[in-house]
Amino acid sequence: MSKVEFNKETGPREVFCGLTSIVWLHRRMPDAFFLVVGSRTCAHLIQSAAGVMIFAEPRFGTAILEEKDLAGLADAHEELDRVVNDLIARRPEIKTLFLVGSCPSEVIKLDLATVAEKLNKRFLGQVRFVNYSGSGIETTFTQGEDGALKALIPLMESSNEEKLLLVGTLANNVEDRFKKIFKNLGISNIESFPPRQSTELPKIGKNTKVLLTQPYLSDTVRDLKHRGCEIISAPFPLGIEGSTKWFLAAAKAFKINELKVHEIISPLINRAKLALESHKEILKGKRLFLLPESQLEISLARFLHNECEMDLIEVGTPYLNKDLMKEEINLLPDNTKIVEGQHVEKQLDRVRESNPDLVVCGMGLANPLEAEGISTKWSIEMVFSPIHGIDQAADLAGLFSKPLRRNQILTKKTLVTH
Ligand code: SF4
Repeated sequence: MSKVEFNKETGPREVFCGLTSIVWLHRRMPDAFFLVVGSRTCAHLIQSAAGVMIFAEPRFGTAILEEKDLAGLADAHEELDRVVNDLIARRPEIKTLFLVGSCPSEVIKLDLATVAEKLNKRFLGQVRFVNYSGSGIETTFTQGEDGALKALIPLMESSNEEKLLLVGTLANNVEDRFKKIFKNLGISNIESFPPRQSTELPKIGKNTKVLLTQPYLSDTVRDLKHRGCEIISAPFPLGIEGSTKWFLAAAKAFKINELKVHEIISPLINRAKLALESHKEILKGKRLFLLPESQLEISLARFLHNECEMDLIEVGTPYLNKDLMKEEINLLPDNTKIVEGQHVEKQLDRVRESNPDLVVCGMGLANPLEAEGISTKWSIEMVFSPIHGIDQAADLAGLFSKPLRRNQILTKKTLVTH
């Protein structure tokens, strides 16, 4: 293992909550509906994050807890019942309804698991109800996906059929490309979780080999292990290096010769290396500070250092699962400083002291830092963009070179104007 410096920090945090993940989950599973049980603030957050759909009926909504609900649970249950009945009557196409908990529902201790159980009995054979928490208390936004997937695992039937299971939401076109490569390698039985329809959940068992596509799925992984699945240890498929090692790890688990992997992916690697060059010119030698938010930070740091030659000042991550991240940590340069958790004020002090060329951070911190003349990149963009795979390496680098390039242009213009 490389000699990485681990630190922990606690204090005030500045991150999006788990409700945000509804934005990509509802696009992934169009037959599902996400009903947030929360306040008007929750409704505003999800609506502004997902945008307003003009032509389609939305597949997310909020059962608003009013002040009187916060004082007594009876009203909250009534309101939830009313909203659910109305929704199911109006939207017969909904096959799975996620009841998503929030800070307010947690504060009043609304037991959504029991609510879901009762609704499952009432709507048996029509709609399935599952619940998870998207609350921002002690969680960060990508954990919403972890909670949603974990909630679906009990609905997955058992099977001992050998298969490769890709776990974590991917853009559909990226998923198709991955599946094509795996088929060329000789792995024919491949499924994804979450699937493209909530009713098409993969069957799982002791011959299911799980290959993670996202690093923020600790709870999901734990439950898949309990169901007997084997977790393939690999870095994540970001950049050329991570994706290559990811394919190699899968091939090893299916006893496929390494040479075959190289034969199939070399043309992709050659193309991706060429496409990376122009971004590397901008990123090389630039100093990077990653603040904790998405849990993708360690993989991004590895890519931006190893393939784009950026210098790492500090790599923040909201949570660190050393077991899931061990292959990534092994690839980091010696003396990388990883900080788990957040004390936002202390971290901002360190940002200012170290004077980085680029800071990866949440949207709430980006504007103030930009106002101080520090270039930023929103970490949330990484989960909304198709960044996985060898052929996406240049696009991933482009997300970071763009703000630096823009700054260079602005500086030149300012110099000319003066
Ligand atoms: S779940 Fe909590 S953090 Fe998220 S929008 Fe609602 S109140 Fe805010």
